[in-house]
Amino acid sequence: MYQIRRIITPAARIKMPPNSGASFVKRNNTAEFLMDSFYKEVSPEFEKNGYITKNKLEEIYAKLFPNVDLTLLKIKKSKASAYGACVESKNLLENNTLSVFGYDIQLPFGKKAEQEVLRAKNAECLFHETSHLCDFLTNPKYRIKTLLSENTYPKRAKYWEFDGKFLYPAKDFNASITPEKDLPSLLKDNFAKLWEDTKADSYEKIEILQNFRHDMKTEQIAYPNGVVYRGDFAAHPDIQAVKKNPAIPKDKKPEILAHAFDNWKRLVKEDCKTYFTKTFHFQEKITTLEDLLKAELAKVRAEHAEKFAPSAKN
Ligand SMILES: [Zn+2]
Repeated sequence: MYQIRRIITPAARIKMPPNSGASFVKRNNTAEFLMDSFYKEVSPEFEKNGYITKNKLEEIYAKLFPNVDLTLLKIKKSKASAYGACVESKNLLENNTLSVFGYDIQLPFGKKAEQEVLRAKNAECLFHETSHLCDFLTNPKYRIKTLLSENTYPKRAKYWEFDGKFLYPAKDFNASITPEKDLPSLLKDNFAKLWEDTKADSYEKIEILQNFRHDMKTEQIAYPNGVVYRGDFAAHPDIQAVKKNPAIPKDKKPEILAHAFDNWKRLVKEDCKTYFTKTFHFQEKITTLEDLLKAELAKVRAEHAEKFAPSAKN
């Protein structure tokens, strides 16, 4: 974790607003500040051309995150129009270490006049994946997908499969929830089977549960961000009204527009949060993961007390 902080934090520090402390709320504000900065850089391109070139995107990432080794790649699955990934760079696996050396952001790039471009219709994907990156930069706990230590690596595939099946996006599982078979009990049953299968000890269980919890939390943020920043706001009547109002002096417009944007963003974000939390059951999943984690930690604490506490006799 120390190494991650050492490598990543300088990049974030440069762009962080003053007084960005360690509290959860402040961290979230800082991630939002980074997202706003990113949005300000990319949105004029979408507005002007209806797309952004890969070169321009690389420039913007390098400007905002100068110390992060980012690689933009074309997503391999070509059938999906809005699908991407932000994953730890392959350096991680090659070096077999927990340090993060960089990120690969995979996006559905297309071709336009011999250039690789990302079209405005895929902006949601761009903002979603960038949201994960901003989360990680401001809070290294929000790892981008499960970074598992060396000894758990051979089981990695099983954990990934579990993640896709029951946590994210887990459409079939989400659809199977009924009042009789509620999410916490179904999820707990499936975890019991997973532990049986992987023969995980308590330390491994804790690590996996924490990874899953952070994963759910960053997804819970990334989904609304994808929608909020993708650019629909430009068509919003309040924003158009400010842009077109001849009575507002030119030099006042940026300030009033920023306010209209913030207001709009707040409303949409709340709507999106409610929608995605409900559809993907993010909050219920996080709560269940926290319950399981609490139980596991209590178990280990009791074992440690038994094993390592100084004996009453001495
Ligand atoms: Zn995501």
